Amino acid sequence: MRLQDRVALVTGGARGIGLATAKRLVAEGAAVAIADIDGDVAEDAAAAIRQGGGRAIGVGCDVTSRQQVEQMVARTAAELSRLDILVTCAGLIRDNLVHKMSEEDWDLVIDTHLKGSFLCAQAAQALMVKQRSGRIILISSTSALGNRGQANYSAAKMGIQGLARTLSLELGRYDITVNVVAPGFIATRMTEATAARMGITFEQMSEGFAATNPIARIGEPEDVAGAIAFFASDDASYVTGQVLYVRGAP
Ligand code: NDP
Repeated sequence: MRLQDRVALVTGGARGIGLATAKRLVAEGAAVAIADIDGDVAEDAAAAIRQGGGRAIGVGCDVTSRQQVEQMVARTAAELSRLDILVTCAGLIRDNLVHKMSEEDWDLVIDTHLKGSFLCAQAAQALMVKQRSGRIILISSTSALGNRGQANYSAAKMGIQGLARTLSLELGRYDITVNVVAPGFIATRMTEATAARMGITFEQMSEGFAATNPIARIGEPEDVAGAIAFFASDDASYVTGQVLYVRGAP
């Protein structure tokens, strides 16, 4: 119960890595606000956690909107009393080779991942600075290192690493740490959609990945949630500005 009496806010928390993270933080004692673009799905996820005995609220929020992000953070603090941990899992992909990538798809991906992470971190740090403590965990990707067909996503995910390093320098004096978790290939709706777009089954894509992965399997959302929980806990209190790749490989 490393997170007893802590309050966490997880964007993109209704599905995939965000949902696994919300459940993990609750299992470690935290109360959690599950935010997602679809408020009903967020509320369903929160209701399931409450049924299991955890403390959770669901919040509808599009992370590309400053107004909605500020409302999300204000509601979390009002209903759960404070905000100790921010995890930014909201995301989507719009893959295409550069010569076919539309400006709309570039903007949507940059706005969702990079601007969204900035807006959420900015709103959260305002409370955390007053509390003189906080944990911010941003989600990047191995695609930050470059991935064919993902110019928009790759740029956003590498931008998130620069954002986190800079925030760690600015916020450390308030006992706020800022770290990044960068997953590899994780079994979620996002990667299911990628397989469908490639015209192969998810199983075929998973087997192909596992064949070249040192741990010989794809990742599960829970693998990523464990790394996020570490950064959220006191075990990581002197760790900041770091990027941890969770990819089953160096
Ligand atoms: P999921 O699609 O399972 O979950 C992402 C959630 O974010 C969805 O519920 C989605 O809603 C929501 N969302 C999308 N846009 C917004 C928005 N503007 N505001 C709020 N919520 C939004 O994806 P994953 O769990 O796989 O991804 C979580 C994070 O991990 C993302 O940042 C992703 O880039 C990153 N990641 C994932 C990897 C993987 O292999 N799965 C690998 C590396 C990084 P909706 O479904 O309605 O669009």
